[in-house]
Amino acid sequence: MSSPLLEKIITESGQPVNLCYQCRKCSAGCPMVDEFDFPPNMVMRMIQLGLEGELLRSRAIWMCVSCETCGTRCPNQIRIAPVMDVLRAECLKQGIEPADPTTVALHTSFIESIRQFGRVHEATMLLKYKFKSKKFTDDLDVGLKLFLKGKIPIMPKKSRNLSKIKEIFTKAGF
Ligand code: SF4
Ligand code: SF4
Repeated sequence: MSSPLLEKIITESGQPVNLCYQCRKCSAGCPMVDEFDFPPNMVMRMIQLGLEGELLRSRAIWMCVSCETCGTRCPNQIRIAPVMDVLRAECLKQGIEPADPTTVALHTSFIESIRQFGRVHEATMLLKYKFKSKKFTDDLDVGLKLFLKGKIPIMPKKSRNLSKIKEIFTKAGF
C-alpha cells in the first residue's frame, strides 16, 4: 500500500506513517482532538490512502500544537507533529485557503518577529497578529495586564546572532 502523498510525508517528515495500524493510542491521548475535524489516527489513514485534498483543507493540520504526546504513545514511534508540519507547508505551498487562518496569522507573525530581531519581540508579534487576523479586540484584557506587569516590552532587543539567524532563513528559502 502506497501513495505519492505517503511517500512524500515519509521522506519529508522522517516518520514511518506506513506502519500505522490504527490502534488509536495517538487520538486517545491527543489534548487537541476535540478541535480536530479528523482525529490523528484518521489523518494517518488518510495519508496512507492519498487523500491529499481533504487533508490540506482540514482543520486538523492547523490545530495540532506539536505537544508530542502521540509520538510517546505510538507503538510504532510515529511522531505526528512533524507530519502535520509537512501538511501545513504543503497547504501554503499549493495556495490552498487554510481551514484556520487565525493559526496561520499567529505562526507567520511569530516567524516574522524572529526573522526581524533574531528572537520574539512580543509587542511586534502581537501587532502583526492583530492586523493579519483582524481580531483587534480579542484578549485585550489579558494583553493589558501583561503590559502593565512589564511582560510586553515596547522596545525590541535584537539577538547578538541576528546575522546567523538571517542566514538560516535564507537557507530555508524565506
Ligand atoms: S502532537 Fe499534535 S496530534 Fe500529537 S498529540 Fe499533540 S496535538 Fe495531538
Ligand atoms: S498510535 Fe501510532 S499506530 Fe496507533 S493509530 Fe496512532 S499513529 Fe497509528
